[in-house]
Amino acid sequence: MKGWGEVGCVEARSGSPPLTPCVRLPPWVLMPIITFMGVGVIAYLETPDTWWDAVLATQLCPHCLCLCRRHSVRERAAWTQFLLRISERIPVLRIYCPRCRHTYTILPDFLTPRHRYQVPVREAVVSGAEPLPACGAQTVTRWTRAFRQALPLAIHHVTAWILTAGVPLRGQEQRFLTGEMRGYAGLQLGRHLAAQYGLDTLASSVFGWVNHTCDPPHAFVL
Ligand SMILES: [Zn+2]
Repeated sequence: MKGWGEVGCVEARSGSPPLTPCVRLPPWVLMPIITFMGVGVIAYLETPDTWWDAVLATQLCPHCLCLCRRHSVRERAAWTQFLLRISERIPVLRIYCPRCRHTYTILPDFLTPRHRYQVPVREAVVSGAEPLPACGAQTVTRWTRAFRQALPLAIHHVTAWILTAGVPLRGQEQRFLTGEMRGYAGLQLGRHLAAQYGLDTLASSVFGWVNHTCDPPHAFVL
């Protein structure tokens, strides 16, 4: 089943961009667009305007492919501390499309919607690198279950992205991508393989990189 955003994108790319907001994509939906903006909060907060200017110069509306403009800046949570559970808030950019009026929140790839903790924190927990976080057993269970459910789709996005990139994959690498890729380690190997062929792997984490490979860009999975 297609989501709202996918419906809009398919229409736009078919050569008939709507002149009025698409009735199947509610204008009140604030869709996120996840992109690389430094390897973490510190790098991001050093030059937020630089990251935002780069977005404003290039980001097309996923709905009608029009160049977006600055809307506003808002704050959102970006928790990082395992032991002290310090609540941090950082500014994030919102943009809008001057044509279809949809609004998007630009999230650095160490954040995802509906999660207050930063992505590398969740990744460390579900990959086993951080066995005893202080965020609570229920939270860990929820993160782990969500990761297992999202893993097949994450692998699908990554493999499709590499296989259609036009790089001269060897037979062993093609077999790995089409049938042998498993678990978090598989995602790590996929990222390593992409880097070997010069594909863009700039990201704050493996999860962040997976979210980059998603098309359309707001169809994040991890
Ligand atoms: Zn638009």
